[in-house]
Amino acid sequence: MNYDYLHPRDEIALTISRIYRNKMTTMSGGNLSILDENGDMWITPAGIDKGTLTPADIVCVRHDGTVEGRHRPSSEYPFHRAIYDVRPDLTAVVHAHPMALVAFSIAKRVPNTRIIPQTYRWNGKVAFAPYGVPGSDDLGSKIAEKFAAGYDSVMLESHGVCCGGRTLQDAFQRFETLELCARTEIKASQLGTPQFLTEEQLQLESRSDLRLATFEHGPENMTVAEKNLRNQVCAFIGRGYRQGLFTGATGTISARLDANSFLITPHPLDRFSVLPEELVLVRNGRCEAGKTPSYAALAHRTIYEAHPDVGSVVNANASNCLAFSVCNKAIDTRTLPESYILLREVSLLPFETTFSNMAKMASTLSLRHPAAVLANNGVLVVGSDVVSVFDKLEVLDSTAEAILGSLPIGGYVPIGKDAIDDIVKAFKLPR
Ligand SMILES: [Zn+2]
Repeated sequence: MNYDYLHPRDEIALTISRIYRNKMTTMSGGNLSILDENGDMWITPAGIDKGTLTPADIVCVRHDGTVEGRHRPSSEYPFHRAIYDVRPDLTAVVHAHPMALVAFSIAKRVPNTRIIPQTYRWNGKVAFAPYGVPGSDDLGSKIAEKFAAGYDSVMLESHGVCCGGRTLQDAFQRFETLELCARTEIKASQLGTPQFLTEEQLQLESRSDLRLATFEHGPENMTVAEKNLRNQVCAFIGRGYRQGLFTGATGTISARLDANSFLITPHPLDRFSVLPEELVLVRNGRCEAGKTPSYAALAHRTIYEAHPDVGSVVNANASNCLAFSVCNKAIDTRTLPESYILLREVSLLPFETTFSNMAKMASTLSLRHPAAVLANNGVLVVGSDVVSVFDKLEVLDSTAEAILGSLPIGGYVPIGKDAIDDIVKAFKLPR
């Protein structure tokens, strides 16, 4: 969906309800603003329930200071204004108190954004602004000082976080991705020693820009099967977002259409609101003109070519799976029979594999061994179709969550070898 066509009050109301529904603010905390081309600021109101906010509740503070609307502007209006004053390139600010970032804020630490390439691409380095009284000019100048130094994401001591953007969606994706970093680092620290991407590894990722030759394609030459698959994939992307398996800015899914073609998520994309026409068809190594497929398109294509029975591939950064990815540990599926039956043994592949050794990646995965943890790059899951790949991804993330949950209560005991042999026999699993 293209947010550029929304009025600021509609975009703010949509985004704050998304933040509230994703439990990234309480009903009273957090505020968002957009600065329009006239220098007028559209901002969330003070003291109104974030769970029921409508576009009509959004306040406009004109550039001359007059206030229009049925409410008072947010009490944090001074720091929004202070940020825009020092950063003319920014037109949106998101501020909230999501739980994992608040944990870092009260621990007086900044989350490391080098957990996966996308989180570093969105946030880069993050600043830490010292404490100030909420709503005060003093807090505004402390935050603005960090934005003036070039930071787009600033942690606020004993308060929360503030992210700026060229658009509200840009600021929101930065905010959501930073919360993913914080959540993952907290979970990974319970599991082992988090590993962070080096400069060389980040370089490897930035060289992976995909340029495919193109072909003309449009609804006039789409089959019913393609239209059906586009709608099915979109429904699962939206569901994956709501289930916490994808974030707005991360997660790639593809689905095979026929022997030589597949549909894949584009880049960039907001997984919250994907439309069927946004997916990219890749056929015989070419992609449909006017669209950019995900960076992972080549890796997915390598898997489809190696395995004619694979009908869908997903690369996801669900935060429980990501804790294992960041600790460079495989996920043990000998937890529940369901996990072992669906996923069998899960492999661990080095970060570089998806960039420089796609053949190794393709030979590791199959319908028999459908899941792998990619070091600092999430998890990769294959299935016979979109439904089966989604099922496996959900089970993989639940398994990761259960293992993480067992750690503070003494850890887990894997199902023993004899019981695993019985499962293999009872369910006629291939050996
Ligand atoms: Zn606040």
